[in-house]
Amino acid sequence: MRGMHPLLIGSEIYRHSSYEPKHPLAIPRVSTTLYLIAALGWLPPGGWIPSPLATPEALTRFHDPAYVAALQRAEATQQVSPEDRARFHIGAHGNPVYREIFSRPATGAGGTMLAARLTAGGGIAHVPGGGTHHGLRDRASGFCYLNDPVLGLLEWLDAGLDNILYVDIDAHHGDGVELAFAADPRVFTLSVHEADRWPFTGRVEDRAGGHARNLPVPAGFNDSEMLWLLHQAVLPIARRLRPQAIMLQCGADALEEDPLSRLALSNNAHWGVVRALMGLAPRFILLGGGGYNPWSVARCWAGAWGVLNGFEPPERLPPAAEAVLRGLAFHRAAGRNPPEAWFTTLRDAPRPGVVRAAVQRVAVAAVRDLPPAAVAPCRLHPTGLALTGLPSPMP
Ligand SMILES: [Zn+2]
Repeated sequence: MRGMHPLLIGSEIYRHSSYEPKHPLAIPRVSTTLYLIAALGWLPPGGWIPSPLATPEALTRFHDPAYVAALQRAEATQQVSPEDRARFHIGAHGNPVYREIFSRPATGAGGTMLAARLTAGGGIAHVPGGGTHHGLRDRASGFCYLNDPVLGLLEWLDAGLDNILYVDIDAHHGDGVELAFAADPRVFTLSVHEADRWPFTGRVEDRAGGHARNLPVPAGFNDSEMLWLLHQAVLPIARRLRPQAIMLQCGADALEEDPLSRLALSNNAHWGVVRALMGLAPRFILLGGGGYNPWSVARCWAGAWGVLNGFEPPERLPPAAEAVLRGLAFHRAAGRNPPEAWFTTLRDAPRPGVVRAAVQRVAVAAVRDLPPAAVAPCRLHPTGLALTGLPSPMP
């Protein structure tokens, strides 16, 4: 039975769809991750599950229908009117018009919504194409057109859950998700991100009325510091909340070799967070997110899938996996002389360091004034069917 194993949700769309050549996202990320998982012999029984294309109707559970229609229009015409550009930020602010500008994000959204449905009664799912956490209700933002984490969290709420923890370790603040649930205490959002970086939100004192925590960290943030935040803030919060479900956005742009941020983690840090959180709730969804170095993204996310399954990465990758990584090209400085380890290993060398006072301070602040511990039992019907009459959030 599928539900016995962690579910891997992918799509063929990532093999041929790309942003314009000069865009930071014009690199194969999800397809490389899936190839690497396959080459390691780590595919689940039956292989990965194809992500369905979310319908416009499903997307309007969160998004403005006029905005969804504008995305469809942009895909159909490959153009954007001045009005749509100004109103929806399509074809502007780093959100280019590209061939699959509707269908690719709608596939990511369909994947995360499917993951939420398939785990509503319990289970683990990984959606490497998900994690577009900047998407707004009626506007593209930060390379994100639709907000699949929000749509997945709404699926869980619609299934009757009322105590969900969303954790975001992308280098950028998970602003779109925090904003979407700012008035809905059923979803507690927690974001670890680089301080003073776009979108310049997520200050330590911003708490969305109590059910959000922001942990901005300084440049050079290392493995020891992530471990510190995990044990001093993330885990104490998770244990206090006793969530029915956890969603983890695992953006790979906080890794040291990422060209868009200045954090300095190794993939051991990401895997440590996955390992620590996956067992703390009966439902767990792992998403992708940012990540702009194709080698570090694929190695990080393939290894995270290994953690979900209890697979230990081999010291040296098998030839088929090495071939996947050697087949990548990257037209940025880091791609000119990639170190041999990017081809032959999955696990980075650890990057420990001093736990700086600035990191200790955000941990102390994060655990102050937490909401009272959850006492209500899970309201989910044993068959996984939603109970009726539960309130709906205002998106
Ligand atoms: Zn990011």
